[in-house]
Amino acid sequence: MPDCVFCKIVSGELPSRIVHQGELVTAFRDLNPQAPVHVLIVPNQHIGGVNDLTAEHTPILAALFAAAKKIASDEGLAQNGYRLVLNQGSHGGQTVVHLHLHLLGGRRMIWPPG
Ligand code: 5GP
Ligand code: ZN
Repeated sequence: MPDCVFCKIVSGELPSRIVHQGELVTAFRDLNPQAPVHVLIVPNQHIGGVNDLTAEHTPILAALFAAAKKIASDEGLAQNGYRLVLNQGSHGGQTVVHLHLHLLGGRRMIWPPG
């Protein structure tokens, strides 16, 4: 997707602090972190959001969660816990229309979210 910021990060056209890159997903540090650890995990292929998912995307979804688990462990978050967030659409707070899982950790989260 030519004008998509996360497609450009996946391809390397835009710089980012990548923490994981595999065949199906890429993870990089959020530009505006909301916790001591704030990593975004995105599919390498452009998918706008949850509303665009189909059964064909199942391996990508598995890879997103596998990466989240591995990065949480690598960042030392596994024992104390962490939060995974996926914002969909305007009421969900989605600002970048390329599916992404937020991995937040290193502090205690509050509930309900804003
Ligand atoms: P959303 O609000 O769509 O769920 O989350 C988008 C996230 O992408 C935000 O947390 C924002 O800080 C992050 N972000 C937006 N543009 C960039 C960028 O160019 N580089 C990085 N690393 N993060 C970005
Ligand atoms: Zn994209």
